[in-house]
Amino acid sequence: MSASFPTDAPAGLSATELLQRLIRFNTVNPPGQEHEANEYLAGMLEAAGFTVTLVGRTPERPNLIAELRAPEGAPEGPVLGLLSHVDTVLAAPEDWRHDPWSGDLQDGEIWGRGAIDMKSQTAAEVTAALDLVRDGWRPSRGALKIFVVVDEETGGSEGAVWLCENHPDLARCDLLLNEGGGAPLRFRDRLHYGVCVGEKGPLRFALKASGRAAHGATPGLGDNALVRLAPLITRLAEAELPYDVAPAVASMLDGLGLDGADPERSYAALRAEDADLAAAIEPMAKITFSPNIVTTGDKINVIPDRAELFVDCRVPPNVPTEDAKARILAAIGELPDGVEVEWRMTVPGNDSPGHGELFDALQEWLGDHVPGAGIVPTFLPGFTDSRTWREAFPDVVAYGFFPHRNLELREQAGRMHAKDERIDVEDLEFATACFRDVTRRILG
Ligand SMILES: [Zn+2]
Repeated sequence: MSASFPTDAPAGLSATELLQRLIRFNTVNPPGQEHEANEYLAGMLEAAGFTVTLVGRTPERPNLIAELRAPEGAPEGPVLGLLSHVDTVLAAPEDWRHDPWSGDLQDGEIWGRGAIDMKSQTAAEVTAALDLVRDGWRPSRGALKIFVVVDEETGGSEGAVWLCENHPDLARCDLLLNEGGGAPLRFRDRLHYGVCVGEKGPLRFALKASGRAAHGATPGLGDNALVRLAPLITRLAEAELPYDVAPAVASMLDGLGLDGADPERSYAALRAEDADLAAAIEPMAKITFSPNIVTTGDKINVIPDRAELFVDCRVPPNVPTEDAKARILAAIGELPDGVEVEWRMTVPGNDSPGHGELFDALQEWLGDHVPGAGIVPTFLPGFTDSRTWREAFPDVVAYGFFPHRNLELREQAGRMHAKDERIDVEDLEFATACFRDVTRRILG
């Protein structure tokens, strides 16, 4: 649906003020209830001259698409999308030092659920676009699209997935900036900004054991399915899989002053120098396992005849699913009698080229604003809505990037989905400037 959206937002709102306002809309998902936040943004963007569409599977959860095109007859140019999601995970107010929906500003920080993940990026992207338009700017080629989607935190079936499937023309773009990168990591006294160019794919599986039930008082009469799984849990936790270093990850290792052609030596050096950083970035280069759930009997006096171990496994984008399965089976080794593997969820990893117009624009901007910092491609061990755009539009170049001036990667990771989520105002303004300048550079 397209309509006219009333707005009570004052013109010239700063990113800080907009983020405070967005945090005060409780959009914990489930249920999400993102409509108030997105109607508020729609009003502002429409008043500024964007063509705004709110469209969703239900009226309570509309996705926002705001578009500003170059004038008729302008030269061809790319469609640049600035993407964010406006839903959040839940928050337990009793654990927080500020109310999670207060948007309090104290000592240079804005507090609240979504301050990092990721209403901050919504605020920065929308403010960047509104600032440009207020200065009289219009794209001189291509188009700018602002996407504020719902339902990312539970998988996007009402958000990115729904939008790309049902309204591909609204969702289509050539270049896309989303969450997933931009908090700098410090290594050997140099800051390196990661541009997230790819995401690992989950390839979850279960190991299912069967045995024979008997009374718990006579173990010799039964065959305990849970016990059959026990050595496999340890084997998975200790498995060392070979490195699968994609070109982007090799270039990251080179950028850090390590050697992308020799991952064994590079990661060994990294582990020795900085174990936390190694733990954070080594998963980009290999399949990982985490044996996370066991289900089995529920009676203390009965030997269980069934047990299942569920394993969260993540595969880099450069490893085809069939190869990944072969490696997983090799790592598990010989299965005990009565145990079988069941593949549960397979989402291939996905990535975009770690070079080109958008990468160059980010690199140039960073070179101007943080002299001496490095910029490196990275993979996200988890996944975001970028995967949905890459799947729907195979030519799209999608990156995760929200540059922080002050907050480094280690601290940022501790604030996501955690209590006391907050963002430094300087970081928010820094990212806003980046989105504004990069948009202007790409669209003229
Ligand atoms: Zn997020």
